[in-house]
Amino acid sequence: MMYDIGKIRADFPILGRTVYGKPLVYLDNGATTQKPRQVVEAITNEYYNTNANVHRGVHFLSQQATELHEASRETVRKFINARSTAEIVFTRGTTESINLLAATFCQSQMKEGDEVIVSAMEHHSNIVPWQLQAMQRGIRLRVIPMDDRGCLLLDEYERLFSPRTKLVSVTHVSNVLGTINPVAQMIATAHAHGVPVLVDGAQSIPHMPVDVQALDADFYVFSGHKVYGPTGVGVLYGKEDWLDKLPPYQGGGEMIQHVSFEKTTFNELPFKFEAGTPDYIGTTGLACALDYVSALGMDAIAAYEHELTAYATRRLMEIPGMRIFGESQQKGSVISFLVGNIHHFDLGTLLDRLGIAVRTGHHCAQPLMTRLGIEGTVRASFGLYNTREEVDALVAGIERVRKMFG
Ligand code: PLP
Repeated sequence: MMYDIGKIRADFPILGRTVYGKPLVYLDNGATTQKPRQVVEAITNEYYNTNANVHRGVHFLSQQATELHEASRETVRKFINARSTAEIVFTRGTTESINLLAATFCQSQMKEGDEVIVSAMEHHSNIVPWQLQAMQRGIRLRVIPMDDRGCLLLDEYERLFSPRTKLVSVTHVSNVLGTINPVAQMIATAHAHGVPVLVDGAQSIPHMPVDVQALDADFYVFSGHKVYGPTGVGVLYGKEDWLDKLPPYQGGGEMIQHVSFEKTTFNELPFKFEAGTPDYIGTTGLACALDYVSALGMDAIAAYEHELTAYATRRLMEIPGMRIFGESQQKGSVISFLVGNIHHFDLGTLLDRLGIAVRTGHHCAQPLMTRLGIEGTVRASFGLYNTREEVDALVAGIERVRKMFG
């Protein structure tokens, strides 16, 4: 299919709105993406026509809703090329997926003194869940350092392994630096030490093709809302062998086979990890979003965004005093920057007045800010619908603010 940006933008009604009387320039896609009409309509349609609780009903609507929900699981499976739908657990998002894994993996596979390796560029959601476990169970976090360009030091990574290493948990793409980490290589290294790997795919799934079997990832997690789907739904992919070894996370309906006051047996995968009524409307929306990006082609999206990000980098570098954080050769569609002595919060606030939505602050990666020796940055993050004109508006906006600050 042709990458027709005009047609694509027309699918996202919100992109046509104004803020403060200016056309909206939405460059906060790393935080969340806008939703195409198709996704909103799929959600509305299910509420209007097919809403019923799933899995437990004999009646027509319940069966139809169940079919939709399970078809969505199959769409996710195909999208990431998992072997089986048993390996696709629906969660509330990346954060819940990591918390689920941290709790169940640490409980069943780790003892005091064991270690989890994370990287210097993790989002708080791939740090704090491990720390909560560390407090309870006396396990330790080891951190892969990075160089000044924002690339992980793979020699140092290799040196972190010991017989105490039980898991590596690393982001595929940094939400601040844009660095695309060599996760296939890092997984191979971990496997050579007999250690499984969790990959945080929150910032990769929307931007590039991901094949969990080709990567040989043991666990892979992402959020629906960052890939043009609804909020409140996400995915934990896990190899069946691993998921089988882990205990349930939450208890309740759906995750059981048989309950008595003496003993409860648990449901098969993936339902063992899905206590309570799932967000079956959300999963329909997510599947619709994945169908939407698949129709455009993940390769085509990656190529388009790569070209746009390269253009934005060139244009931003023309601005005097511009400092871009993250200079990896392998970089996604995220640009974090500071300009002269202008505080990131002031720059973001003034850009907002021009209709330009960027994110400012520590981006939920305070340890990374400490490593960079800064408090925060301004971050422009692009999605499949952004344009060169929007990049030009950002550059003109920054120039305007810069002049205001003399
Ligand atoms: N991991 C990374 C790399 C992220 O960028 C984010 C969100 O910004 C998350 C995890 C958390 O995602 P969510 O808030 O959807 O659970």
